[in-house]
Parts: sequence; C-alpha cells; structure tokens
Amino acid sequence: MSYTHHEVTHHEVLNPATGQVVETVPATTAAEVDAAVARAAKAQRGWAAAAPADRARLLRRFAAVVDEHLEELALLEVREAGHTIGNARWEAGNVRDLLDFAAGGVERLNGRQIPVAGGLDITILEPLGVIGVIAPWNFPMPIAAWGTAPALAAGNAVLLKPAETTPLTALRLAELALEAGLPEHLLQVLPGAGDVTGNALVEHPGVAKIVFTGSTRVGKQIMAKSADRLKRVTLELGGKSPNIVFADSDLEAAVAATPMSFLDNSGQDCCARSRVLVQRSVYDRFLELLAPGIESVVVGDPSDEKTQMGPLISQAQLERVRGYVPEELKGIRGTAPDGPGFWFPPTVLTDLEPDAPAACEEIFGPVAVVLPFEDEADAIRLANATEYGLSGSIWTRDVGRAIRVSRAVAAGNLSVNSHSSVRYWTPFGGYKQSGLGRELGPDALTAFTETKNVFISTEA
Ligand code: NAD
Repeated sequence: MSYTHHEVTHHEVLNPATGQVVETVPATTAAEVDAAVARAAKAQRGWAAAAPADRARLLRRFAAVVDEHLEELALLEVREAGHTIGNARWEAGNVRDLLDFAAGGVERLNGRQIPVAGGLDITILEPLGVIGVIAPWNFPMPIAAWGTAPALAAGNAVLLKPAETTPLTALRLAELALEAGLPEHLLQVLPGAGDVTGNALVEHPGVAKIVFTGSTRVGKQIMAKSADRLKRVTLELGGKSPNIVFADSDLEAAVAATPMSFLDNSGQDCCARSRVLVQRSVYDRFLELLAPGIESVVVGDPSDEKTQMGPLISQAQLERVRGYVPEELKGIRGTAPDGPGFWFPPTVLTDLEPDAPAACEEIFGPVAVVLPFEDEADAIRLANATEYGLSGSIWTRDVGRAIRVSRAVAAGNLSVNSHSSVRYWTPFGGYKQSGLGRELGPDALTAFTETKNVFISTEA
C-alpha cells in the first residue's frame, strides 16, 4: 500500500478533558473506500429486495440493541468528544429514537396514484443505492444517525465517514448493527481524513448521494464536486443564530434560558443562539440579570453528573475561539478549569459593532454577543444580517409579533419563547449559507429515494 505525502495512516483520538490519547484508529484509503463501495452496492441490492416488514423489523432490533448499550455509547462519547454525560445519554437515546422512527417509515413509504385518461398512473419511490454520510465531530452520534437511519429505511446502503476526532461511537454503532442482524456491509464506517476518505466518497461514481454536515466551506467544495456527476447532496452547514428578546417578553424566563442556549455542548452547536439581540429599553436589565446565570454555570469534568459544560473538542478549536475574544473583555465571563484539556470559560461580549467578526462569524465555542435593537423592524434587520440562516429564537408575549417575526427571519428552524429546534420528527435544515435540503421530519425517507412515474395504458 502506498501513500502520497498528505495521507496519514492513523488518527489519534484524544480525550478533550485531559488531552490524553484514548485510542488510535486506522485511516481508510481511497482504494479501501472503493472496495467498501463495491461491498455496499451488493448488500444494498439484497436489502432493497427484502420484504418491507423484514427491513422494518431489523431496524427496530438495531434500535433495541442501541438501547441496551446506551450507557456504553454515552461513556464513549464523553471520552472522545468531552460531552457531558447527561448530553451523551440523550445523544445515544436519539440514535435509538431515530432508528425506531425510520423503521416506522419503511411500510409507509408510499408512492401516489395520479388521475390520467386512458390508463393508470403511479409513482414508485426507489432507493438511490449507496449513500455517503459525512459527519462532523460536534454531535457525532445523532448527526451520523440523521442520515443513516432514514437512508437504510428507504432501502439504501450507507458508508459513514465520521470526523477525524470522533470515530469511536460510529465504529461501535456499526458493530451493534451487525449484532442486531443487519446484513453485512450494509452499514460500513470508514474513519479517515476529510480530504482523503471523505473526498473518495464524494468522487466515487458508485455513491449516489452525499449527506454532509460540517462547515460551509467544505460543504461548498462537496457540492461543486458533486455537480460533475449530478450527485445528490444534502448539506447541513454553519450557523450564527439570533436569540431575539423583546421588551414585552417574560424577561426573567428569557434570561434564564439564555446561558445554555449558547453554552450547551460548549457552544459547539450549529444551532447555538450566539447572537443575542435585546430591545434597548430592557438591554441593561437583561445583562444585569444574565451575569449571575453565566458566572454560575458549572464547567468541568464531563463525566460528573452535575457538570453543565465540558471542554472544547481540540487545541485547534481552543485557539480559534480565543482568537475571537479580546484580552480586554467587555461583557461577562464565567469560569473554567486550568491545566490539561481544552477549556474555555462561558463568555458574553458586549459593546461590539454588529458587523464585528465575533458578531457575525460562527465561533463554535462558548461565546455569545449581545447587541441592542430599537424596534421590531430593527430586530428583523439585525437577525437577518448574517450569511447564515439555520435557527433562532423569539421571546415575546405578543402572539402577532411572534408570528410576524417568525415569518420575517430567514432561517430554517425557529422557536418562540424557547430554544428547542431539533426533534427527529420535525424537519431540520438551513436557509442561505446554512445548507441545502432538509433532514429529519415526516419526509426524511423520501430524501433517500428517486421518484419513478409509471403510466399503464388500459387501451391496449
Ligand atoms: P468540517 O467541514 O471541517 O468537517 C466535517 C466533516 O467533513 C468531517 O468528517 C471532515 O473529515 C469532512 N471533510 C473535511 N474536508 C472534506 C473534503 N474535502 N471532502 C469530504 N469530506 C471532508 O466541519 P467540522 O469542523 O467537523 O464541524 C463543524 C461545522 O459543522 C460547523 O460549521 C457547524 O456549524 C457545522 N454543523 C452543522 C450542522 C447542521 O445541521 N447544520 C450540525 C452540526 C455541525
């Protein structure tokens, strides 16, 4: 086996809370990807031909096996990604739920019958074939499953490329799939570098669709390369989402929900509400109430049940986040452990211009910017003044205003008087530079099918 200069043979997986090596995982070469595609294509043909009820049953069994290994998967995620144990349990449970939900769709993947003269017209939803799922490190398990579960349910095979820093839960899930009785090679996990293993999936003619979650920069490269073959893509990209607090809101409730709306997962969340827009008449009061909430966030050992926020994923991410925060900080700062590991304290920046880099670029760390606005029109203008459009929140007691602002903000996932936005049974995806296509929700399986229209003449 030969390697070109930029290829690496292994990736070290570090525990972000300690900086220690957890495991070393081999990187998949382009030639190995090629072989995996051939195996997947064979497995997919058998899977697509199986009775829908049998496919559904196997996916439900996969969900059950994941459930039996929930704690093990959660602990693995704590070790490789530094997620708090509470979050990690939720994430493993989310994989189980996604599999169950997708399993329920196998027998409901209906085509249509459309009225025509002289015959019968039906549509058939056919699987695409082999799907490449390229996942990021911030939510390794759920995001892998967002693509994988519906793709399998719709009759496809999946090749999953986890992020370099977080391959362990994906590898374990593939073992659990086999344990549950899924056909061999139907779900294969291919750890490796993005520009080698990921790129090999993107360029491979045998891969029908790429489901990519990650940075806008890489998403655009993948789309450009896919254009050559008209390869289907779903892109879930970056975000810089607003949290809009009107003076007529329940201010205490809005303040109480603010810290974890951008600190959950140490801010490494594409939906983090990292641009807090507060109506000027309550701006000072908002900051005054927010300070104790930020200062009291428990940051530390992610395996401790009481911890609310763990470390960042890597040294590189730590440097990136530091780059956005000035030494002479105006705002609020919480606490974080010293010593080994990749720690950064909860941080709120004030007195910034709306077009400052920290106010409009995705930081992907525990940092929010608070900006004042004058009125509803100003709030909408500021909310839309970024290249992204993934999610956002609106705090107001005025129902009409909640609806007007929800309509006016160009983002795929909004919540009113709350910060929730990702449920496996509701659609998720971005406007503008935040993505293309939708995942999850009632149409999740359809995104992994091609529609064939058949007209059958009754005249012959
Ligand atoms: P990234 O784009 O660097 O990497 C994502 C994945 O793509 C990794 O598996 C990586 O190895 C792979 N990759 C990198 N270069 C590639 C190439 N040339 N060809 C094929 N694959 C390649 O992103 P990241 O730093 O891992 O993740 C953070 C980003 O993900 C943030 O911008 C965040 O907002 C975004 N994100 C979006 C969503 C969403 O649903 N919209 C969810 C989570 C994260």
